[in-house]
Amino acid sequence: MNGVNLFVANWKMNMTRAQARAYAEDLGSRIGDGFDAGELVLAPAFTALEAARDPRGRWALAAQNLSDHAAGAFTGEVSATMIAEAGCRYVIVGHSERRTLFGEDGPLLARKLARAREAGLVPIYCVGESQRERAAGSTAATLARQAEALADDPEDRPLVVAYEPVWAIGTGLAATPADSAAAATGLRKILASRRDLRVLYGGSVNPGNARQLLQGGGVDGFLVGGASLEAATFAAIAGAG
Ligand code: PEP
Repeated sequence: MNGVNLFVANWKMNMTRAQARAYAEDLGSRIGDGFDAGELVLAPAFTALEAARDPRGRWALAAQNLSDHAAGAFTGEVSATMIAEAGCRYVIVGHSERRTLFGEDGPLLARKLARAREAGLVPIYCVGESQRERAAGSTAATLARQAEALADDPEDRPLVVAYEPVWAIGTGLAATPADSAAAATGLRKILASRRDLRVLYGGSVNPGNARQLLQGGGVDGFLVGGASLEAATFAAIAGAG
């Protein structure tokens, strides 16, 4: 849709350093000299970033979260500067697990987006409606409200937005390509002034539904959770287009 497709593996709180190293070796041997159907990104836990790094640069790294503060007395937090220094190009902001399990809301996410930009990171900003919002017919309104956190984000910088319906995450029940396309079209309209926007779909993507979603879902790639935990499956999804 908008240049190079993007495939992001969100490992969540899985994968030790040893497992990350083995995965990286496996992925590397599968893609050989490089992956030419898009850009690959691994999003490990902070502790496994170095282990997941590819010295040959065939994939980029993302952090799964960042602090909304730049530095200081915030025990247990990790700053955008630290994430950038650790070799990340991207950072996931506003994943639904952060929103629902950790109470992250629009104002907090707007601050996180600002910290990400200060450090030169590209945000992968997640949006998506709950089952209840979907049933109430308020998907578009939910996405528009969640996109408000981007109001102060600079329009001339690359941005990735991941449409991740909450009801599809980890449930095995992916959105249809038509659902994805409707959401992606709405998001592109809201963010029409952005110069470099890629819209991803996330939610129970697997090698069996990836092609259809990529071809009919109006998106520039995927954010993949469970199915990204095996290099073979992640590579199959990324290669499905
Ligand atoms: C996610 O958590 O970002 C996700 C898309 O998970 P899954 O692929 O497991 O539904």
